[in-house]
Amino acid sequence: MKAFLINPPGPYCRAGSRWPHRRAIRSVGIDYHPFPFGLAYAASRLRADGHTVSVLDCIALGMPVEALAEKVREFKPDIVFMETSAPSFRRDVETMRAIGRPCVAVGAHATATAREHVQAGFAGAIRGEYDQAVTETLDLLPRPWLATKTSPATEHAPLPVRLDDIPWPAWDLFPMEKYNDPICRGRSVTVLSSRGCPHRCDFCTLAPYHGEHDYRLRDPKAVCDEIAELIRRYHPDEIYFDDDSISLNRKHVLGLCEELRRRRFGLPFSCMGHATVAHDVLEAMAAAGCRAYKFGVESADPDVLRQIPKAIELDDVVRTVHDCRRLGIRTHATFVFGLPGETRESAMKTIEFALHLRTHTLQFAIATPYPGTALYERARNKGWLVKEDWSDFDPAAESVLSYPDYSAADIAEMHALAWRRWQWHILTRQPGTLFHHFRNAYRREGAAGLVRLGRYGAQRLLAILRSRR
Ligand code: SF4
Repeated sequence: MKAFLINPPGPYCRAGSRWPHRRAIRSVGIDYHPFPFGLAYAASRLRADGHTVSVLDCIALGMPVEALAEKVREFKPDIVFMETSAPSFRRDVETMRAIGRPCVAVGAHATATAREHVQAGFAGAIRGEYDQAVTETLDLLPRPWLATKTSPATEHAPLPVRLDDIPWPAWDLFPMEKYNDPICRGRSVTVLSSRGCPHRCDFCTLAPYHGEHDYRLRDPKAVCDEIAELIRRYHPDEIYFDDDSISLNRKHVLGLCEELRRRRFGLPFSCMGHATVAHDVLEAMAAAGCRAYKFGVESADPDVLRQIPKAIELDDVVRTVHDCRRLGIRTHATFVFGLPGETRESAMKTIEFALHLRTHTLQFAIATPYPGTALYERARNKGWLVKEDWSDFDPAAESVLSYPDYSAADIAEMHALAWRRWQWHILTRQPGTLFHHFRNAYRREGAAGLVRLGRYGAQRLLAILRSRR
């Protein structure tokens, strides 16, 4: 059969992102495109099973819906798999209608709102990790994890347990030069050494999407075989591990570091992990070439952390950043405003903590109760949801949560203040961060990157100066 896989058009960061949002490009003006692992693994699965596959990542390619519809008409697929998200849902439905072929929705939003997708006109919606379930979906016959007009989905698609048995992502079908994580230097290739996370933060979409027992690890040797192939094909400057949290299993991360050292790839790597890491693990990571480390703190209010619940101690976070600095590892921390229990005072505390943490870069988001998460259910039950249209569920734009003593407007104000304070901070106290962003923009895009970032910087500076009057 012929299958078309799509990351549909629109100004969004969707497939490959854990927090789909509109591309506000608020932080550093960087054109961030995560590698869409779900689509890439699904493409390789279908190909390995003997099907003809075409892929379009319309966001990475900047392709409008008319051009996509034309490509679909030319290819004449039997079925289209489309990754959807909450903020882009309306637009995704329009794209599905423009395509005019049987379309199956996939991803975290399709998992949480499978019935709504079918009611909107999708031929089906897969609940759960879809990349290895696509072949079984081609006939659109009833499956417990496939919602259609005639059958609701009651389960998640079976989780692939042995990740090393899965064919490598079909990189050749994707515009590999477009994918980057802003923390990486120059051109990077992205790889997964694990999937899922054993923690259960109530705002996180991971567990609702993957299902129970979602945390799975790969063999470090298999991971390094894949890296060797990526290096051979794409000659990157850096490797990026896009694991949900690479550092949670001590044995795994130490084994991976040992294998990376043994292979001598001669490339640095960056990764996303837990906010607190043992000193000897960080030492092993640094020795294996770790150049930058990202982690989520979310809040500096212990009561908020308890409510989420996020199992970190703020003193340990400070120590992790200190250890990273000492070992020459750059750090990037993420914070969220508007989580349950937050007040204006505790939000101010979070801003002060974030600035004093002295990470190299930061990210501030607005708490968004994506459907399917525990936070969504809690917000509905407590009457905290002030908007119900999925288009408004955008952690880079506005709050759909409003608490009796802490309104959506308060949350948006604290979020905007955090960005302004951070941008003023790097301008006056951490100019090295600016240099890092300009150097990265030049490495990726040449002079055009410098101009784009320069324009963005000038706009931000004007906004900050106006707000300080
Ligand atoms: S630690 Fe991170 S990845 Fe794990 S559940 Fe919490 S937010 Fe999600």
